[in-house]
Amino acid sequence: MPLTLQDCRTLDANDVLRPLRARFALPEGVIYLDGNSLGAQPKAAAACAARVVEQEWGQGLIRSWNSAGWIDLPRRLGDQFAPWVGVGPGELVFTDTTSINLYKVLTAAARIAQEDAPERKKLISERSNFPTDLYIAQSVCQEYGLELVLLEPEEIAAALQPDVAICMLTHVNYRTGAMHAMQEVTAAAHAQGILCIWDLCHSAGAVPVDLHGANADFAVGCSYKYLNGGPGAPAFVWAHPRLINRFWQPLSGWFGHAAPFQFTPDYQPAAGIDRYLCGTQSALSLSVLQCGLDVFTEAEPYGGMAALRRKSLALTDLFMQLVQERCQGHGLGFATPGDHALRGSQVCLTRSEGLGVDGKDSGAYAIVQALIARGVIGDFRKGDGGKHLDILRFGFTPLYVGFEDVWHAVEHLHQVLESGEWRQPQFNQVHAVT
Ligand SMILES: *Cc1c(COP(=O)(O)O)cnc(C)c1O
Repeated sequence: MPLTLQDCRTLDANDVLRPLRARFALPEGVIYLDGNSLGAQPKAAAACAARVVEQEWGQGLIRSWNSAGWIDLPRRLGDQFAPWVGVGPGELVFTDTTSINLYKVLTAAARIAQEDAPERKKLISERSNFPTDLYIAQSVCQEYGLELVLLEPEEIAAALQPDVAICMLTHVNYRTGAMHAMQEVTAAAHAQGILCIWDLCHSAGAVPVDLHGANADFAVGCSYKYLNGGPGAPAFVWAHPRLINRFWQPLSGWFGHAAPFQFTPDYQPAAGIDRYLCGTQSALSLSVLQCGLDVFTEAEPYGGMAALRRKSLALTDLFMQLVQERCQGHGLGFATPGDHALRGSQVCLTRSEGLGVDGKDSGAYAIVQALIARGVIGDFRKGDGGKHLDILRFGFTPLYVGFEDVWHAVEHLHQVLESGEWRQPQFNQVHAVT
C-alpha cells in the first residue's frame, strides 16, 4: 500500500525525539534537508552569542579567558562530546578546522609510519572522498615521500597490503551517503600494519561511532554539520592514547605547549590531546558550539544515539520509498545504499546526464534550486562526467526533521519534476556556493 500523509503524521506523533525539534530556530515554511552541510541554529545560540559578546567580552575583557573559562573550551566541549564517538574524557578537543586537523593527524601518522615502517610508501583513500581530504593528503604525501593511491570503495579491502602506510577514509561519503564498516576496515588495515584515520564529518551526531570499539588510530570531524555548532564552528580531533604522545603534531603552536604561559623559547608539547591545539582559540565560536552539543546531551534520556539512528533510518527509508512511489520517470536513481548497515543519514539521488535544459547537463542543479525556491532546502553536488553522476543531496537530521517534512519534501520534488518548473532560467544560474 502506498504511504499517505496520515501515515507520516502518525510516525511524528509516535516519535520519542519530537520534543527536541523545539530546541531549533527553523524558519517558517522551510523544510531543512541540508543539516549535513550546515546544521540548523539551536535557539539557545542567539542568547549565548549575546552573552559572550556583551558580558564575557564586553565586560570581562581579557579576564574572561579565566573567569568565563574560555581557556578550557576545546577540552571541556571535547569531554562533553567524547561519549558520542566512543572515546574517553581528555582524549578529544574541538579546535581549528577539519582540513587543518587532518593535516595534523596525517602528518603524525606519516611520521609514525616513517619511523616504524619506512619501506611503506602508500597512502590510500577513496577517489570520491571529500576534496579537501585529498588535497591535504597530497600535501602530506609530498612532504613525506608517499604516494597517494585513490580507490573505489569496493577496491579498498584488496588494497590493504604491506606496502601501505596509511589508510585515510571518510566514514560516511559526502556524495553518496554510503558508510564504511569502520571496525572491519580498521581491523583489516591493522592486520597489515596500516594506520587508520577516519574522517567523521558526516558521522558525528548522525550515526553511531565507536572509535575505541573499532580500535581506530586517529579521527577528525566537523561540528557545523550534524552537531549544529554554527557556520565555521571548530572541528574535533582525536588520537588514540597509544599514539598521542609519540609525535608533535606539525603545527606546534603555543596553545599546544606544555606550559604556554611560561613563554619559554623552546617548544615542549603538552601531554595528551592538548598538543593538537595550535594558536589562540575561537572563544566565540566554541561558546556557541556548546549550544549544539547541549541538544545531544539533552537527547540522552530519550535514547541517545540509538534513538537518533533509529529515527534517521526511518526518515531515509521513508524518503526513498516516497521517491520511488511518486517520482518515477524523471531519470532519478539512488546513490545511497538501501542496506541500513551501509547508509549514513542522507539520501542522494542521481540524475542522468543529458536531461537538462541545454540537453547536456543533468538538470540536477536546477531541480535543487527550484526546490529551494519552494522552501525545501537540499543541495547539489557535481558529478565527474563519468562514473559519478550529478547528485541531489538530502540530509535527514533526526533532531529536527519530522516524517511529515519528508512527505512534503517529496511532494514538492514530484511537483517540480511534473511541472518542469526547474527549466526556468533563474533556476539554471549557478551560484558560487552550491
Ligand atoms: C565538510 C567536510 C569537510 C570540511 O572541512 P573544512 O576544513 O571544515 O572546510 C572536510 N571533510 C569532509 C569529509 C567533509 O564532509
